[in-house]
Amino acid sequence: MEKKEFKTESKRILDMMINSVYTHREIFLREIISNASDALDKLAYRALTDDSVGLSGDDFRIKITLDKDARTVTVSDNGIGMTAEELENNLGVIAQSGSFRFKNGLDSDKVPDVDIIGQFGVGFYSAFMVSSKVSVVTKAFGSDQAFCWESDGSDGYTVSESTRSGFGTDVIMHLKDDSEEENYSEFLDFYRIRELIKKYSDYIRFPIVMDVPKSRAVESDETDEDGKKKTTYESYTEEETVNSRIPIWKRSREEVPDEDCVKFYKEKYYEHEDPVALIRADVQGLVSYKALLFIPASAPFGYYSRDFEKGLSLYSNGVMIIDKCADLLPDHFRFVKGIVDSDDLSLNISRELLQHDRQLKVIASSLEKRIKRELKNLLENDREKYEKFFTAFGLQLKYGVVNDYGAHKELLSDLLLFRSMNKKAPVTLAEYVAAMPEDQKHIYYACGESAEKIEALPQSERIRDKGFDLLCLTDDVDQFVMEMLGKFEEKDFKSADADDDELVGSDEKEKAEEAEKTSADLLAFVKETLGDSVSAVRISRKLKSHPVCLSSEGGITIEMEKYFATLPGDNKPKADRVLELNAGHEAFAALSAAFENDRDTAAKYARILYSQALLIAGLPLENPTEYSDLVCGLMK
Ligand code: ADP
Repeated sequence: MEKKEFKTESKRILDMMINSVYTHREIFLREIISNASDALDKLAYRALTDDSVGLSGDDFRIKITLDKDARTVTVSDNGIGMTAEELENNLGVIAQSGSFRFKNGLDSDKVPDVDIIGQFGVGFYSAFMVSSKVSVVTKAFGSDQAFCWESDGSDGYTVSESTRSGFGTDVIMHLKDDSEEENYSEFLDFYRIRELIKKYSDYIRFPIVMDVPKSRAVESDETDEDGKKKTTYESYTEEETVNSRIPIWKRSREEVPDEDCVKFYKEKYYEHEDPVALIRADVQGLVSYKALLFIPASAPFGYYSRDFEKGLSLYSNGVMIIDKCADLLPDHFRFVKGIVDSDDLSLNISRELLQHDRQLKVIASSLEKRIKRELKNLLENDREKYEKFFTAFGLQLKYGVVNDYGAHKELLSDLLLFRSMNKKAPVTLAEYVAAMPEDQKHIYYACGESAEKIEALPQSERIRDKGFDLLCLTDDVDQFVMEMLGKFEEKDFKSADADDDELVGSDEKEKAEEAEKTSADLLAFVKETLGDSVSAVRISRKLKSHPVCLSSEGGITIEMEKYFATLPGDNKPKADRVLELNAGHEAFAALSAAFENDRDTAAKYARILYSQALLIAGLPLENPTEYSDLVCGLMK
């Protein structure tokens, strides 16, 4: 029989798996049982619409058989089975399997440290942690022919024709020999295996049956001194279901404490951190359902990429209908993981149709409210955890505000956190508003690369001087969030760049207008010198100790321009830049004097001031060499 090689990558991972001193090798059983359960799920789903399956309810089952003489552990299921082609595709290539997730988490050349392995779904190949050979005998539902896949895990596998009485799969694991350090024989012990099933697979909804060793009293032919028949004990086995089967999400709080749900979460989703929140819902109403949801503590790799797939597992009448039902979660809560189980869903329709099911919409909207409530609760009662959550998924909430033309902004606005200049910590909008002095009418914000840079902006100075606070926005999307929100608790959002009456006293305003009049020629000269780089040159109403700053007029702000610049494509929108000069500053006096006496020098000063404004605004200089030469020119 031809032996086929594993794909190179598969081989490397197999080697690591087999040779790693993995202390949790017992999880192989969980992985193999979970595959069997998936195969049963697939067939049980099929049985809903296909009478030829001929099984229902408890007919679907997993049997575990231990053979001490042959040193084998066999996990059998009467699930969907595999065709020869599926055997090749599913078990011959690691990239098809859960082990792919495992691989993804590793650098190509690095051997993982032991702890890493436990965080990933290791899948079928984990059988090789305890086996010297694995045989998979399987017959696909609807097929007449069974096949056997066999491998010792090292240099390849074979697939040959085989026999099996019905459809389903047997995974036969030939345990490795015991050595001085390792005891594999423990997995031949009924009690040890039952303990592992209880530990990892108790909630599998299909019966996991085993031949349970028992003993019974029998009358022996021998008699004792009194002539009575002696009683002896004989061993026998009886098939029993060893798992409790009721899925964890169907059980009450009294039966299953939160810690068990957290354990379930970590095992099911291969998470190493506790979730920040756990939602257990048992809703009776228009549509009744139970849900067990988790809010993860950190964003998985690739979360903000297009490839990330959101969704909750949807069960009905104990049958898994859709593994990742996207329609159950709005995009702004796509980080949520978990399970929804409803007996009310109409099952005899196809999966596609189900996605548009009205009942599904009812559940989705009720879950959305529930998740919101839970986040609010976390925010109010466990700030530290909420901030951790927000670090991971705050960006998602912000996108949620902006997306769909602001349709979700009411729902999300009180979940947002922004960094406060005064508190040097994240605050909610409500906290910002509550701390506003009586004479402050607006919510002020400024955008920039970092909070430190924003705090150092000339514009921030006058806000601080007024005794107001400033929200320091550092995410690209922030400015769009402000635009979309427009108001919070009847207070308008205002950029720190704005020249509104609240920040500019009537005195300052008058002074600036006066200076604009007297310096009209100078301002026109500066504008002419700078040409199209700026749309206007003005006397600033906001500057206090700094000589210049840049602001914008029209709909596009400088921060938006910076954001657009990061996007691909040409012809990106640009802000209409306004150069603001501080008429009270020495630099302005120098510029005025030069304007009177020496226009060349005045033009140089104008360019220096504009370049400085660009630097402060975090924009690239149009000509850095020229700027450097101009500044050096002053040092003569
Ligand atoms: P995963 O289960 O994460 O996809 P595995 O490596 O555990 O990865 O399994 C690979 C694939 O082999 C499964 O996706 C499934 O298609 C198939 N498979 C494994 N065990 C069984 C089984 N008992 N019955 C039917 N198919 C199975």
